[in-house]
Amino acid sequence: MPTTPASPLRPDLAAFAAGFEGTVVTPADPGYDAARQVANAVHDRRPAAIVKPVGAAGVARAVGFARDAGIPLRVRGGGHSLAGHGVDDDALVVDLSAMKAIEVDPGRRVATIEGGALAGEVVRATFAHGLTVPAGDTPTVGFGGLTLGGGIGWLARRRGLTIDHLRAVEVVTASGAALRASPDEHPELFWAVRGGGGNFGVVTRFEVRLGPIGTVYGGALVLPATPPVLRSHVPIAASAPEELTTIASLMAIPRLPFVPAEHHGTLGFLVLVAHDGDPAAGPAAVAPYRAVAAPLGEMLAPMPYPAMFELGGPEGRSGAVTRSTFLAALDDAAIDAILQYLSRRSSPMAMVQVRVLGGAVDRVASDATAYAHRGRPIMVTIIVPFLDPSEAAVHRAWADGLLAALGPAASGVYSNFLDDEGPARVRAAYPGVTYHRLAAIKRRYDPANLFAGNQNVPPAD
Ligand SMILES: Cc1cc2nc3c(=O)[nH]c(=O)nc-3n(C[C@H](O)[C@H](O)[C@H](O)COP(=O)(O)OP(=O)(O)OC[C@H]3O[C@@H](n4cnc5c(N)ncnc54)[C@H](O)[C@@H]3O)c2cc1C
Repeated sequence: MPTTPASPLRPDLAAFAAGFEGTVVTPADPGYDAARQVANAVHDRRPAAIVKPVGAAGVARAVGFARDAGIPLRVRGGGHSLAGHGVDDDALVVDLSAMKAIEVDPGRRVATIEGGALAGEVVRATFAHGLTVPAGDTPTVGFGGLTLGGGIGWLARRRGLTIDHLRAVEVVTASGAALRASPDEHPELFWAVRGGGGNFGVVTRFEVRLGPIGTVYGGALVLPATPPVLRSHVPIAASAPEELTTIASLMAIPRLPFVPAEHHGTLGFLVLVAHDGDPAAGPAAVAPYRAVAAPLGEMLAPMPYPAMFELGGPEGRSGAVTRSTFLAALDDAAIDAILQYLSRRSSPMAMVQVRVLGGAVDRVASDATAYAHRGRPIMVTIIVPFLDPSEAAVHRAWADGLLAALGPAASGVYSNFLDDEGPARVRAAYPGVTYHRLAAIKRRYDPANLFAGNQNVPPAD
């Protein structure tokens, strides 16, 4: 029993915990500090409680409790929101980490995935059947957060986004109702959750279509960070067979065993590749890079697809600032700006990542889902990891400066690569009519904006 009366600021958590199927962690519990951590160390927040339901009924109970008590609600899957949306001061955090069941039906090539599963867990569970669904590039990212924003990863050019493989979702909405959304049931809600993020409720289950996968040809090619190399990257990656997806980063070369030590710490261009097709065709797809410059080092080989998710190595926890946008071309002015900024980077770990999209991503109409950036071929993402969270403002200023230096041709942003950047940038994530359609759907399913701890689209008036 609580020792003090409940109030809106002191919700009656003991009453909530009684009969709750799952775990409740409060500031009085020894596990509180671990339970309130999210991946981006900048966000050091102290929620009222972190609750870990084991099913949709517990999620509905937690949502109803936060709504009725008038306390902020946060939803956490893998905890990788760049803006730290999975935690907040005085909030009730619905942590989905006890909801990770993944069921694969190999005959129908369908998987049902609970809302708290991580991308790497989905990749491994489906690969055990020789099947997969695109699930980004990083194993520790929540499959839920990844999918609700769109889901861009290793298989993008051949298979499109994660949402392009979604058959249905089960959602607990603000009213506490558990709804199924699909092309035939609540179709507007189904449109909205494919790109509109966590605005519409807690997705307790995703149902996805799977496709066959086995060995891919993949790995890393480390090239010198020269203007000719940078100029050649987009033409090479965009004209490569669709089987080839690349993620290239201008960054200080890490201590990679396949790169001579003299290059470690110097600026390099790391091109990570995944060839999602006949592995024997992989080397030819990558060959044009070698014609531009002799690699400083490389590690390319046929590998089981899940090994692509280990390429980044173990993930260290640090602060991070991110700014991202789309470009039509990586022209000389953009390359100059990037090189100039990196020469005086605010953190030695700052990097600029270039993803060349196209292929299957663009074969879905821009208005078919709430991911409205089909046909935007180049995504540039400025990522600034740093060790001292108190220095965040310096890194934000540097990243904002570089984003502005990319000029007016840089426009729009993928919602999952948005940091805490304010309403105008959320609008940029949902260009044109997309924003208005999301706001109208929000009014229907969450009229009081209970789900506000996200890249928020407030309900239309
Ligand atoms: C290291 C790193 C690598 C990344 N790699 C990729 C990548 O390869 N491709 C890509 O597209 N993105 C990538 N991202 C971005 C990532 O997709 C987003 O940050 C995403 O929101 C993280 O989801 P999460 O569940 O881990 O985060 P959380 O912080 O747990 O959740 C973020 C928000 O998503 C919503 N949410 C999460 N799960 C649910 C659910 N089940 N129901 C309702 N709402 C939910 C909530 O609003 C929550 O606040 C990466 C981010 C990082 C930090």
